[in-house]
Amino acid sequence: EARLNMSASDLKAQHFNYWIEAPAKINLTLDIKGKRPDGYHELETMMHQITLVDRIGFRRGGQGIRLNTDSPDIPADEQNLAYKAARLLFEKFNLQEGIQIFIEKNIPVGAGLAGGSTDAAAVLTGINRLFDLGLEEKQLLELGGGLGSDVPFCLLGGTALGRGRGEILTPIKNGPKLTIVLVKPDFQISTSEVYSDFRMDRVKKFPDNEAFISAWQSCDIISVSRQLNNVLESVSIQWHPRIADIKEQLCELGALNALMSGSGPSVFGIFTRYEIARQAWAHIKQQYPQTYLVSTYKKGEKYD
Ligand code: ATP
Repeated sequence: EARLNMSASDLKAQHFNYWIEAPAKINLTLDIKGKRPDGYHELETMMHQITLVDRIGFRRGGQGIRLNTDSPDIPADEQNLAYKAARLLFEKFNLQEGIQIFIEKNIPVGAGLAGGSTDAAAVLTGINRLFDLGLEEKQLLELGGGLGSDVPFCLLGGTALGRGRGEILTPIKNGPKLTIVLVKPDFQISTSEVYSDFRMDRVKKFPDNEAFISAWQSCDIISVSRQLNNVLESVSIQWHPRIADIKEQLCELGALNALMSGSGPSVFGIFTRYEIARQAWAHIKQQYPQTYLVSTYKKGEKYD
């Protein structure tokens, strides 16, 4: 069976001859500044890419857009955000030659890790390059914003402060490299339900993004950890107290601090020492199989 799997993945590697990594994001802070006339919430959030990546394979040729995936958890048709990204460019540029796209899904779905958005961003980037469309970053960001609020950040990458719906981005350079244990408990949370249940007056403490950025740029991991704060925990933890249990468990196992990402349910802890993080990961994995030992994503850097 191992040999069969091997040859299947070899075939895949040969067939899709151009691959792009699509990293997950976590929110190091997430603040809500109010509700907008259009129904969206006004956000202020520090977003950060990590080394948990989907891999998107491409092959030019055939007719139209064909999408495949190894994941039973996401749609393999027009519903997929990556498909919508491809269609957007195909219609805009009236592309005649077809494309085949493969999503190797490693990012848990509905986890608060922007899995769909990062696949869509990778498809925009991939098709732009493969078909020589000549789109510049600014144009890609604008097209991405039409697909989803998190897509522009996924295009930009790294670490950035997002305002508005998350699409008004300020890159934050020169930060530390984090060692992270990320836990995805075995339930999903609907982002839209969390936002619609959010009440300002139920938040105990709001993030201080200015303090966060200054800690970040001093590469002071201890201060950074103290500034982790996500106002959506006030909703998600109410629904799922297990999120608070996992945070506590991460801290007991040596994390400086732990936080829920996005609207949840993923929780991450920040560690100073790799070996302690590895032990925490091994321990929590027994209870939560979708536990990952990851770090800050750097473009072009090799990692396991
Ligand atoms: P966010 O952090 O942006 O709220 P998330 O990580 O909570 O995102 P996703 O993993 O992006 O959530 O999935 C949300 C929904 O989008 C799922 O119901 C899923 O079926 C759908 N979806 C469509 N395309 C994709 C894709 N390529 N990858 C993941 N989910 C997708």
